Amino acid sequence: MTNKVISIQALIFFLFLTFGKEVYAQSDKENLTFKYFGAAGWQISDKNTTVLIDPYLSRLKLGETSIKLNPNSSSAPSTSSIDNRKNYKRTDYFQSDTTLINKNISKADFIFVHHSHFDHLSDVPYIAKMTGAKVIGTETTISILKAYGIEEDNLYTVRGGEDYQFENFSVRVLPSIHSALGDKHYFNSEIYKEGDIEAPLQIKQFIEGTSLMFLIRFKSHKVLTMGSMNFVERELEGIKPDILLAGVNMSRFNMYKYDERLIRVTNFPKIIIPTHWDNFRVPYGFDQSFGIEKKIKPFIEKVKEISPNSKVIIPEHLKSFKIN
Ligand SMILES: [Zn+2]
Repeated sequence: MTNKVISIQALIFFLFLTFGKEVYAQSDKENLTFKYFGAAGWQISDKNTTVLIDPYLSRLKLGETSIKLNPNSSSAPSTSSIDNRKNYKRTDYFQSDTTLINKNISKADFIFVHHSHFDHLSDVPYIAKMTGAKVIGTETTISILKAYGIEEDNLYTVRGGEDYQFENFSVRVLPSIHSALGDKHYFNSEIYKEGDIEAPLQIKQFIEGTSLMFLIRFKSHKVLTMGSMNFVERELEGIKPDILLAGVNMSRFNMYKYDERLIRVTNFPKIIIPTHWDNFRVPYGFDQSFGIEKKIKPFIEKVKEISPNSKVIIPEHLKSFKIN
């Protein structure tokens, strides 16, 4: 072996020692990890921060529900295919499934809430207390959390239009509108101010209380989040997220060219992840093929047509995936 070869090897070894660790740390920092809780619920984390979006894990059985189990799901319970949990009515007091939450959430720095319906907000009082997370939401959301005794220092009331810098991310709050439920007849202008409501709340007392979207800018990715199948088009002009959590439930078919307008105004995001498409009245592990066939598949066809370079990721309950 010549001296020249030895010195090149030494140089490579030196470079590895000096920069190898840095390069590794850098790429690790650029990963965003996503975990889908069902409904509009997400955990998104980078190296520094864990953010929850509308985390709703209790999945209360409300009225008639499907009892079919998906045998292919990794989260399928092994014993029974029947949902024999308590059957709730809208006038019942809401109760979080704390065992399930403790099992699946260990840490949260921030919680973002799109609106105050039970499938977005009802587990937040318990999760905020358990994790000490700060919560960002509308006046109605914050009034409900104050009623549940969440510390004021951890609460941020917003109306849409704010653009806040925090230590490791920034967030632009976007005014939005709720899904056109009831074949476009849905409308509710009720809001809660501080002191208007007492805890615990009945399920029906989780009112919408106006709707928001969030543009969360992490170190390496801009994520646009949705909690409904609706948006105010002019509010999204020019924001260019690279990751879009797109609301794709059935009510989007009430809208004028929903998929096309959404994808165009957000500048054809590189990654699009369908959200709020599952049946959240059944436990994890139950059959969700209706949502995949009737909601996600037609959406993927549209994306292929409008934005062939976008990648659509179909999320599975409680399974983490990384984007870098
Ligand atoms: Zn809602």
